[in-house]
Formats: sequence, structure tokens, C-alpha cells
Amino acid sequence: MRTGVIRKSAAALRGAQGLADFEARGGAFRWEDVRARLEGLPGGGLNIAHEAVERHARGANASRIAFRFLRRDGTLTELDFARLSRLTNRYANVLRALGVGKGDRLFVLAGRIPELYVAVLGALKNGTVVSPLFSAFGPEPIATRIRLGAGSVLLTTASLYRRKVQGVRASLPGLRQVLVCGEGSEGIPGTIDLARSMDAASDEFEIPPTDPEDAALLHFTSGTTGTPKGAVHVHDAVLMHYMTGAVALDLHPDDVFWCTADPGWVTGTSYGILAPLLHGVTSLVDEADFDAERWYRILQDQRVSVWYTAPTAIRMLMKAGAQLRREYRFPALRFVASVGEPLNPEAVWWGAEVLGLPIHDNWWQTETGGILIANTAAMDIKPGSMGKPLPGIEAAIVHRRETGLDFVTAPGEEGELAIRRGWPSMFRGYLGEEERYRKCFAGDWYLTGDLARRDADGYYWFVGRADDVIKSAGHLIGPFEVESALMEHPAVAEAGVIGKPDETVGEVVKAFVSLKSGFEASEALRMELLGHARKRLGAAVAPKEIAFVASLPRTRSGKIMRRLLKARELGLPEGDTSTLESS
Ligand code: AMP
Repeated sequence: MRTGVIRKSAAALRGAQGLADFEARGGAFRWEDVRARLEGLPGGGLNIAHEAVERHARGANASRIAFRFLRRDGTLTELDFARLSRLTNRYANVLRALGVGKGDRLFVLAGRIPELYVAVLGALKNGTVVSPLFSAFGPEPIATRIRLGAGSVLLTTASLYRRKVQGVRASLPGLRQVLVCGEGSEGIPGTIDLARSMDAASDEFEIPPTDPEDAALLHFTSGTTGTPKGAVHVHDAVLMHYMTGAVALDLHPDDVFWCTADPGWVTGTSYGILAPLLHGVTSLVDEADFDAERWYRILQDQRVSVWYTAPTAIRMLMKAGAQLRREYRFPALRFVASVGEPLNPEAVWWGAEVLGLPIHDNWWQTETGGILIANTAAMDIKPGSMGKPLPGIEAAIVHRRETGLDFVTAPGEEGELAIRRGWPSMFRGYLGEEERYRKCFAGDWYLTGDLARRDADGYYWFVGRADDVIKSAGHLIGPFEVESALMEHPAVAEAGVIGKPDETVGEVVKAFVSLKSGFEASEALRMELLGHARKRLGAAVAPKEIAFVASLPRTRSGKIMRRLLKARELGLPEGDTSTLESS
């Protein structure tokens, strides 16, 4: 394995916006200086959509392209800031006409189509809290999230409605209205055709007073136990989207930016929608899923200059081979960043050698709302490291003790990654779960649940997760949600779910299942269970492998010991099994 540091040239470091720009006033970094770059609303208000859309639509950027949507079939739809402003105004008026107001919750279930982007921004204008859902979820994760989030209105496509919502609609009495868009959206019983409502709405809209602490976005994330957690973010998060867009992603006004994440995950909202708009940058949105040739063609034909993607995608490009890359030319590309899972040092070097640019890894979570630790354009890269804390962010490596936190000072010592509370995009709660929220903090520190170490130069290195949550293709999957779906099958007595290491997607979901008496393990039953899980959970969450076992290892208090299942699967030492229930 290659080691060493990727050094930046003096010119590259000078060209990077970096931290210096925010310290132009000669002092240390202050969030107030970031706030001063934004417009705000009269009376100290702040609204994300005002900053992202209106600030440009009413100024010199009105005719600049905000979004360039690339459809699956290769056709393009462009929206400039002025048009985006009118459409999002209309959407806000549609919500208002439906009686959906401030603090109400809109869920959006759609692929990466213009309607989703207009809905998110229109809802923010209206003060409505918006929660985009991943369209590859099955009916169960969708219904669970709408229920937990007390969603009163949903926007989806006619096709997704029929396949994933109709069947669970009766279990969602709080969901008062469903707007549908796309082909076949007229005349579906119990729904409203979005296009018609948009036609009837005015394109003038005055953003109501919005406080920086008003809830804006709701993103669900998975824990090890219990239901998914709804992380609440407020309008003040816009400071973070703006600052990190400049410092971590190096966005400049002439850039064409491509974030490959889906808005169903936090990266696809914070960076796939908001950060580039805040900088008046053109954002490319591809409706289709990963395809190596298509992606290289996009980099080339769309003249992407800043690209934010994920380790799984990079590994898939590496697999597709260097020859394919040589068939394309993309001289406009100048900065590449990655997030979501550990980025192997080999991938960073591959970027430098095959892509022609090193990949800048960065770290954050649903709860943090924005990038906190990064390899920025203004830094040398240590391949394999997540980088350093961004301005305004104080990170530490800690050990939890009964008496409080022990702070690690020795370079290289592992511990839990903690962040001092108070950055603007810090989640303000898990919806309806105060206790779960409270447990994430020790005094002034937010405990991330990730294990890491810091080296003598202040670079942070990811070690692993402190819990059993699974990361597959960059998506966080809660084992409990998968286990619960499997246990709904009449043959299943108990289920334990782990992430099994995989070279390409990081981890694949593997389930261990014990059967009720009267059922026999067989290939046919395995296929049936895989199909059952896929139908309920969707392809993104369902297990890829199922193994039958006589019983599952449990602690004396009855918790499944997933760690032990994993150790056994990998042939690793079983570690401390003193709490194992003897069977
Ligand atoms: P999510 O909340 O879905 O965005 O997932 C956040 C989790 O993804 C983190 O807590 C980490 O476990 C993992 N993660 C995110 N970025 C990185 C990174 N650069 N390196 C390693 N793990 C990462």
C-alpha cells in the first residue's frame, strides 16, 4: 500500500477559498461573519430558501442557471434562479391553499426530478418542515417515517404512489393530503394533481417571518435499536451550508457542481440542493443511477468543475478500469470530494493518478447537518484521513466514563469522536424523543458514535462505528428495522442482522434467522424471505444474504449480540462474551 502525503502546489493553495476568506477581517473565524454574508429577513429573521433562491433571483444572478436536470433519457431541463423563484413561490402557494402552514410537515417521495427540488424549496419558503424520503425505500420504511414525522402532506409521483403508498395509506390517518406529479397523475382517488394546482397558483409569494431557530428540515437516520430517528434541523443551518460550500467544497461562482447523493439522504439535501444555490452556482442533477460510462460522460459533457460523490461510486469507477476513463476528457473538473463511508487511501491515490485529481474525503452525519471535518482545497491530503475540523468546529477524541468524559491528548489513541456543541446546523432534537437526544450529549459535547483517532498534525482518522448500524453503499441502515420486517414473516422466530464487509459497497446487509417449530430451512424458504424483506423494505434496505441458524446469541438481558454474529461470520475472536446468555 502506498503511503505519504499529497502535497498541493502553492498556486492551488492560493486559489482555494479556504479559511482565509472568512478571516479577512483579520481575526479568528466567527459565525457572525458568515451571517453577514447572507441577507436575512426583516427583523432578524432567516429563511434557507430566501438565501438560496430569492437573494439571487432578485439580483445579478437572476438569469444564471440554478439547476440543470439531466433526465434518464439524456434530455436536459434547466431552471434559472428567476424561474426557480417563481416555481417555488407557486409551490408555497399550493401548500398555503391546502391549509399547510408553518411547522406542518411535508414528506417528498420522488426520484431526482425537478418537482422534488421545487417542493423542498417551496416548503422552506412557506415555513413548512420538509422531509425528503429515499425513493428506493419500500412501503414499510416510508410509512414508518411519515407516521413518526406526523406528516400531514406528501408529494410523490403517480407511479411511486401506486407501488409504495396506496397500500399503506390507510395506516396513515394523519396524512391529510397527497400531491402527485408525473405521468398518470390525474384522477387518482384520494390525491391531488400537482400540475393543476401549480397552474392555478400565483407566482408571487411573500416569505412569512421565519426565525433562525424555526424547524426547517427533518432527516431520518437509523439507530441500533428502536424506530428510525427524525433529526430536526433549523433555518440557521444555512450558515453551515454556506460556509462549508466555500471552505470544504471550494465553490466559486462559475462552477458547475455535481453532488451525486440522493436528496433522500442528508448529503443530497444539504449539498445536492442548498449549498450550491447559496453560492449562486449551477448544480447538475442526474436522474439516473450509477453507470460508469454515463458518469464519465456527464463529467465531460456537462463540464462539471466540482464533484461531490461517495466511496462506493469511486470504488465502482475503479473497478470499471482506467481504460474507460481514458475515453473521456474533462478538463473543467478541478475539485473532487467524497463523503459517507471510509474512503480507502488507494481510492485517493487512484483519483490523483487516474482521474487526474486527488479525492478530498470529508466527514459528517445526518445529525451534524453539514460537513464538519474535511480535507479542504487549502490543505495537503493524507490519504485515508477524513481531514481536519473546519472553522468554527471543535472536535475531540474522548472516552465516556461514569464521571464524565476523558479527553484523549496522545496522538494516535483511539476513542469516540466528539464535537463541541453550538455549530449552526447541529440537530435540535430527535422528533418526539427527548431522551434519545439527551443521550447524545455529555455536557458541552455531542458524541458522534464514531470511533476515530487524531494524529500529531491534527488530522482525524476514522476507525469504525461504536454501534451496530450498517453502512451499505453509503446508506445508513438500522439492523432493528430489518430484523422487525423479517420477524413479520410467519416462519421466522428471531432475526439478527449485521453488516458484512464488502469490497465495493462497504458492507452488505446479512441476516441470521432462526425458524419457528414446524418450519424447515430450505433454499425455497430463503428466497421467500429475501423476497418478503425486499417487498417491505425496498432494495436499499433489504438483506442481500440470509443464513439459517438454530438460535441467536443473546445477552442475559435479551439483546441480540450482533457483534458476536459478526465475529463468527468473519472468523474473528469472539471478544468479551461474559454477558452471553448460556443456552
Ligand atoms: P449519515 O448520518 O447517514 O450521513 O451517516 C453518518 C455516518 O457515516 C458517520 O457517523 C460515519 O459512521 C459514516 N461516515 C460519514 N463520512 C465518513 C467518512 N468520511 N469516513 C468514514 N465514515 C464516514
